[in-house]
Amino acid sequence: MGKRLTDLVKIIIDRKKDIKVAADMTVGAGNDSLYILENTKVERLYGFDIQKEAEIKAKKLIGEDLRFIFNLASHDQIENYVKENLDLAIYNLGYLPGGNKEITTKYQTTIKSLEKTLDLLNKEGKIILTIYPGHPAGKVESEELEKFLAKIDPKKYAVMKLSYQNRPKNPPYIIVIQKN
Ligand code: SAM
Repeated sequence: MGKRLTDLVKIIIDRKKDIKVAADMTVGAGNDSLYILENTKVERLYGFDIQKEAEIKAKKLIGEDLRFIFNLASHDQIENYVKENLDLAIYNLGYLPGGNKEITTKYQTTIKSLEKTLDLLNKEGKIILTIYPGHPAGKVESEELEKFLAKIDPKKYAVMKLSYQNRPKNPPYIIVIQKN
């Protein structure tokens, strides 16, 4: 992720003062999880990743923290692991940097998980997605996601896009969804 985009995600997280329950839907190396644990009042942070390598890396980075509930599971199975509403959910799509580039998020599971996570959001709860259309699988994922996002009921959720207007070659961008 470009540094400026990471900074923007952090600013959005920082502005949300009332985070008690959150989910990191793509834990990876654990950087986003660590940021939430260190910078919010989160009491429980559910984490999902399908790779054991991610679990090992994230647990090493975060250390012992009872608030962090990691699940070695796909995020489209969220209903089996999260039995409460969420104030925040974040997705950092694509593949694990430095890991196997074949293991990447896929639009079918991303959308399935988004449908379920939208239902779990508290009022004014947010979903933040960082999307990378710069690689072939990411381009397909971003196109399919945009079709899905355009159909979300505006009476229930605001869906916003933060994107570079002055960078070539399909730069990454952020989608923020907020429940009304
Ligand atoms: N946020 C991470 C960090 O701070 O290091 C980086 C995440 S990385 C870009 C994307 C991660 O999504 C990979 O670790 C990958 O294994 C994971 N992933 C892919 N498909 C998934 C799925 N269906 N459910 C949960 N995680 C998935």
